[in-house]
Amino acid sequence: MTKVMLENLPQVRGEYKFDEPLSKHTWLGVGGKADVMFLPEDEADLQYFLQNKPQDIPVFIIGGGSNLLVRDGGIRGAVIKLSNRSFSKWQICEEKLYCGAGLKNFELKKILPQNGLSGLEFLCSIPGTIGGAFRSNAGCFGSDLAKVLHHARVMDASGHIFKVEPEDFHFAYRYSDFPQDWIILEVCLQSEQKSKQEIEAIIAQNDEYRKNHQPQGIRTAGSTFKNPEGFAAWRLIKEAGCDTLSIGGVKMSDQHCNFLQNDGTATAEQIEQLCEKIIEAVYKHSGVKMQMEVKRVGERLDNDGRS
Ligand SMILES: Cc1cc2nc3c(=O)[nH]c(=O)nc-3n(C[C@H](O)[C@H](O)[C@H](O)COP(=O)(O)OP(=O)(O)OC[C@H]3O[C@@H](n4cnc5c(N)ncnc54)[C@H](O)[C@@H]3O)c2cc1C
Repeated sequence: MTKVMLENLPQVRGEYKFDEPLSKHTWLGVGGKADVMFLPEDEADLQYFLQNKPQDIPVFIIGGGSNLLVRDGGIRGAVIKLSNRSFSKWQICEEKLYCGAGLKNFELKKILPQNGLSGLEFLCSIPGTIGGAFRSNAGCFGSDLAKVLHHARVMDASGHIFKVEPEDFHFAYRYSDFPQDWIILEVCLQSEQKSKQEIEAIIAQNDEYRKNHQPQGIRTAGSTFKNPEGFAAWRLIKEAGCDTLSIGGVKMSDQHCNFLQNDGTATAEQIEQLCEKIIEAVYKHSGVKMQMEVKRVGERLDNDGRS
């Protein structure tokens, strides 16, 4: 982005962070810089920004960064993060939970039992925010966001706010066709009443399952590849002998070979190369073309380190 564009950013109430390293905002801990990160104060501030920014500044929205591989060249334009508390408010109305898109899923661990809201326990164990969960149709333990979604409020690229329904976005396994430059503001989720004890028990059981079956406390982005129809990605990876592959500081986790593990020294380029190598090897071995579940965004660096 040119200096002139940056100088023409609108006067907002929120914060601009120039040349913000995105490695600080992703679970994998890699990624180059955003030309500018914008942290809006509230919805009106976000709307003002979109309606007054120079048109040629592209916008990308980041949630908790738990499903992103940001390339080493970073992201051109503005990266928007809804980290202000105004985006993580919640309220209950007629057994429906209204959550701001910036609410961290983990925060539901308190909200659900305290208010007797069941059916949403699966979400508590998925890292990231409600907005990110909507965009990727995040799910586990037999449920996903689309199954519990009543409606949402969103903002399009020109700042218009409107209500959307689940059938608008062709939700499927870890997929929605929600436009990349629209922003989810608030999600309304359906629930059913259960006792505090019952809900806490489900949450504890889910946490226990994760502890026993998935690596904890590592730099990862969760499942790297989607499970192809009729196959488990981890099994395809293992059978192709890719579970022990590594490049630089990245390898597949010993505990779950569909989870990437960055030891803290890997670059995004090394992670992407390992993923491409695995996709190719699995295809050669089994004829199945795996797709990334982790979203790759931003620019690769050339051999001279330029994006
Ligand atoms: C340890 C671990 C375990 C995981 N387990 C699971 C699991 O069981 N099931 C599962 O589905 N996923 C899992 N994931 C992946 C990830 O947590 C989910 O995909 C999560 O929903 C991503 O949310 P996020 O806020 O981090 O989004 P990000 O990673 O920041 O972004 C993901 C996408 O959402 C978009 N986005 C984010 N916020 C908004 C918004 N407000 N409006 C519009 N678009 C937005 C981004 O542009 C991007 O396209 C796991 C990840 C980790 C690290």
